[in-house]
Amino acid sequence: MSQMETKEFQTEIRQLLDIVINSLYTEREIFLRELISNGADASEKVRYLQLSGEEIKDGDLPLEIHIFPDENAKTLTIQDSGIGMTKEDLIENLGTIAHSGSKAFLEHLKGSGKQEELALIGQFGVGFYSAFMVADKVSLTTRSYKPEAQGYRWESDGRGSYSIAEEGDLLRGTKITLHLKEDAHEFANTENIKRIIKQYSSFVPYPVYVNDEKVNTVQALWVKNKNEISQEEYTEFYKYIANAYDEPLLTLHFSSDAPININSLLFVPKTNLEKIGFGRMEPGVNVYCKKVLIQEKAKDILPEWLRFLRGVVDSEELPLNISRETMQDSALIARLNKVVTSRFLRFLNEQAKNEPEKYKEFWEEYNIFLKEGAANDFTHRQDILKLLRFESSKTTDGELISLSDYVSRMKEGQEEIYFINGPSREVIEGGPYLEVFKDKDYEVLYTFDNLDDYVFDVIREYEGKPFISADNAKLNLTSERMDGEGLAEEELKEFMDWLKEVLDAKVTEVRESKRLVDSPAIIITHYGTHSLQRMMQVMNRNLDDVVPGILEINPRHGIIKRLNDLRKEEDSFAQLAAEQLFANAQIAAGIIVDPRSMIHRLNEILEKALG
Ligand code: ADP
Ligand code: MG
Repeated sequence: MSQMETKEFQTEIRQLLDIVINSLYTEREIFLRELISNGADASEKVRYLQLSGEEIKDGDLPLEIHIFPDENAKTLTIQDSGIGMTKEDLIENLGTIAHSGSKAFLEHLKGSGKQEELALIGQFGVGFYSAFMVADKVSLTTRSYKPEAQGYRWESDGRGSYSIAEEGDLLRGTKITLHLKEDAHEFANTENIKRIIKQYSSFVPYPVYVNDEKVNTVQALWVKNKNEISQEEYTEFYKYIANAYDEPLLTLHFSSDAPININSLLFVPKTNLEKIGFGRMEPGVNVYCKKVLIQEKAKDILPEWLRFLRGVVDSEELPLNISRETMQDSALIARLNKVVTSRFLRFLNEQAKNEPEKYKEFWEEYNIFLKEGAANDFTHRQDILKLLRFESSKTTDGELISLSDYVSRMKEGQEEIYFINGPSREVIEGGPYLEVFKDKDYEVLYTFDNLDDYVFDVIREYEGKPFISADNAKLNLTSERMDGEGLAEEELKEFMDWLKEVLDAKVTEVRESKRLVDSPAIIITHYGTHSLQRMMQVMNRNLDDVVPGILEINPRHGIIKRLNDLRKEEDSFAQLAAEQLFANAQIAAGIIVDPRSMIHRLNEILEKALG
């Protein structure tokens, strides 16, 4: 028998509702967009179930959304014929948060402290609760598509609890009635509601009626002709499909018939949410067949590193009844993936050529994804490499070049691509590693991002030219410019033996440098680059975790010659100075040196210097 139950909202939802109810938010009209989207989502699910041959209650009911503003009753009703909800669905979807969206949203609101941010509510998968911005009571009836399911009534004033009771004689779908707050009666006004729908929901793929008048024009923009579409329409469509609140940074709209039929509309959002700490993005491209949604946010239609793209891929060749499971291992999906990815990469290349400023903006926001692709996506690696950009010893601050630019500017006799990692241009250029390259007039790429070094380590070469880090032991370059007398051969050998004894296990070898001009000493590494080593140090949280490298010394340098004299006088200061010489070289290499032991030593040196 019909019985009413009262249940508590989960704590997080209660907190969220508190904020929503008490907000004086001016753009609260977005609640309608959220409720219409939910109706459209529910309709889309019916369409999908129909395609897969499931038995559905009220199968002939048209998929439409009906809205009834009532100025006398001060209510607004939104009705859909979507999949509806069972009792379990109601409890799970509207009373608890399966997908922790409310928590993330609360944290975001706390972080920003801004009311305007409430507009983002839908992005966090908690859009339903926005109804309580305008209503002091929400009453909902719903009946699931499952033939044997009961109908239910759900009610809440948003203050802690809700009630559920059985309700007979319902058609499939959900009907939500908002009892409008005193200060929200404008949402019972028909003209106002029509305006809001046009503003926020014109691309909803199901007809939306206000008092039986159709107000949205359903447009599958991606099958329309490019020159019939305005930039505003693209932007609106982007906002709808990506559930976004910004504008697209880049838009690619293309169709092709060979080798495979495709209509696609792809967007790069203006902001990279991963970069600002939102966590890993979900893929955002929907797959359609002749305008019928096959899979939302499809995982396999693009490689993982393109998860920042939003939009649509439509192909007539997809079988309508393809299931989510078979999509995964379908050869057709793999082919679509390859074609769309290649097309997008070509588009980026054209952007880089034709609109370098725009490309730079894209690069600054999304370079991390391209690097991920270069390292992991073997199929498209060569095309991705063309899109990478770097500063170098021959660019100005902020100017970027491609690997092809680099290779085309290589000097006669230069066989390798050189790079060096550092936190900034100033630090790199102030260090000892560039000396030999300056001398030879070879260009060196600056990698400010450790990820760059990782990518070079993985890909190994470009156009047949191996990558080699300027701090790697394999680097075999000899400076042309060796000013002044160095230590004599015998003496040099004794000095290096002594230095190795002092430094002991901290270095694998002390040897003469053929590359230093102005610096006394330099550390080079057996493994990849120092930046990779530094990453290990940070990851392992151990400053002493330094893999010993090779110390190269410049026998013509004043400090080395003076140190050699001290050594011969058996001055105890010689050891101290040698240790500091080594520490200085470590710092120049970007190795993190434990400052405590060094300060101790520096004080002793100071004392000595001050007499
Ligand atoms: P989201 O839509 O992002 O999942 P919402 O807070 O808008 O978050 O909705 C929560 C859930 O409630 C939905 O995922 C859906 O399962 C259910 N729901 C909301 N409105 C409807 C509706 N009109 N028909 C069927 N289910 C709905
Ligand atoms: Mg929603």
